[in-house]
Amino acid sequence: MTRYATVDPTTGEVVREFAEMSDVEAAQSLVDAQEAFLSWRRTDITQRAELLSRVAALHREHAESLAELMTLEMGKPIAQARGEVELSASIYEYYATVGVNFLADEVLDIAGTGRAVVRTAPIGPLLGVMPWNFPYYQVARFVAPNLLLGNTILLKHAGNCPQQALRIEQLIEEAGAPTGIYQNVFANRDQVAQMITGPILQGVSLTGSERAGSEIGGLAGKHLKKCVLELGGSDPLLVLAGADVAQAVSAAVPGRFGNAGQACTSAKRLIVEAPVWDRFVSGFLEQTAQWTVGDPRRDETKLGPMSSIDARDELAAQVDDAISKGAVVHAGGKVPDGRGAFYPATVLSGVTPEMRAYHEELFGPVAVLYKVDSVDQAVDLANDSPYGLGSSVFTTDDTVADAVANRLDVGMVGLNTTLKSAPDMPFGGVKNSGIGRELGRFGLDEFANKKLVRIA
Ligand code: NDP
Repeated sequence: MTRYATVDPTTGEVVREFAEMSDVEAAQSLVDAQEAFLSWRRTDITQRAELLSRVAALHREHAESLAELMTLEMGKPIAQARGEVELSASIYEYYATVGVNFLADEVLDIAGTGRAVVRTAPIGPLLGVMPWNFPYYQVARFVAPNLLLGNTILLKHAGNCPQQALRIEQLIEEAGAPTGIYQNVFANRDQVAQMITGPILQGVSLTGSERAGSEIGGLAGKHLKKCVLELGGSDPLLVLAGADVAQAVSAAVPGRFGNAGQACTSAKRLIVEAPVWDRFVSGFLEQTAQWTVGDPRRDETKLGPMSSIDARDELAAQVDDAISKGAVVHAGGKVPDGRGAFYPATVLSGVTPEMRAYHEELFGPVAVLYKVDSVDQAVDLANDSPYGLGSSVFTTDDTVADAVANRLDVGMVGLNTTLKSAPDMPFGGVKNSGIGRELGRFGLDEFANKKLVRIA
């Protein structure tokens, strides 16, 4: 049973609970999505684009209350929450404008007579299973391209952000969406499985843990349903000899501690070449000291609580395991007294393969520093992870930067920058970080029928 409840992470108190949907309602939502698809797919593209424009405008109009709800349900500091609402609005806007061009027929260069085009067509009702760490953004990057395309959506949000899930549904309705094209479902895991295994649903997109990805992806594979998985990451940030150290520090600190470190593309492993190690470490610790925990409702707070006390306890257990096996603690490393899911900005070094922290994703405000003696060692260490999502490389040597970008087994590389998601740039990973891409043209193609039309 999934529990849909708003639990304030600053106190651990239950604020509001919501009932799970019944099996009958879950089955009906699929029927409604299918019925809505039959007409939505035939609407004019301008009608679908206009809907997305209005959804973007409503995000902006209600930015403050949307951000406040995020802060309440998952503890994101309010200034960062506002930033996420604006990013989400920009994604709807991007597909409403630039996205329309991606739906034009692509004329093929074929031999012989006649013509051939590839038409980008919808495939039907889809299910999105979304997590709590970027509650509006993760929905936006799935929903905007797919509503534009003409697919219809069932959205199962994380159990701990039910009010945000309902707000998104309300906004899309208020924007004028026809009944059934977007439905929030407070579904449990059995109902999600039923949806995937039944004949109506045509695809599923999940952002979340490896465990959830393998369960949902396994079901989708077995039942021949298209799936996109955006899972965890343990992104390396390489600081190579000759890097602009100040620039690397200024990028790495917010890159690690933003959203209390709960981002799949956080810079979780900081891999530093020996000649710049001392300067990088002292700069990193100096700036980390500014990330003190505080009330996420205050404008100036950079580091709020984690999303839940359970998530905080899991992170603390990973850190305790590392410390007990000899890791060095440069900052933080202890659960603070008092209520709530707070955890301090923590910096470790001396992490070795015997420790959980070496292989596992640290989904909270914990940075791990590794000192290496060469570029080769930096690349080998960066690639020694089950994950392959994002990465960053800091160096002033463009040739080295380009060569390292080629050698990293990841889906995204930032050269002298950390990665910030944007509507027009593809997002996704390799290895256990997932399957497929979101955003940009690539995101729109994932659940499209690339239909060949051959004309004699
Ligand atoms: P989960 O992967 O368990 O949850 C993500 C979403 O998937 C939620 O909506 C959850 O629903 C749903 N879900 C999970 N399993 C199933 C299932 N079998 N059937 C249907 N829906 C399912 O993540 P957690 O919140 O538990 O976080 C655990 C870890 O996952 C984190 O510590 C982090 O390492 C990683 N993670 C990575 C994210 C990323 O951005 N890549 C985002 C979130 C987590 P419900 O809430 O109802 O269980």
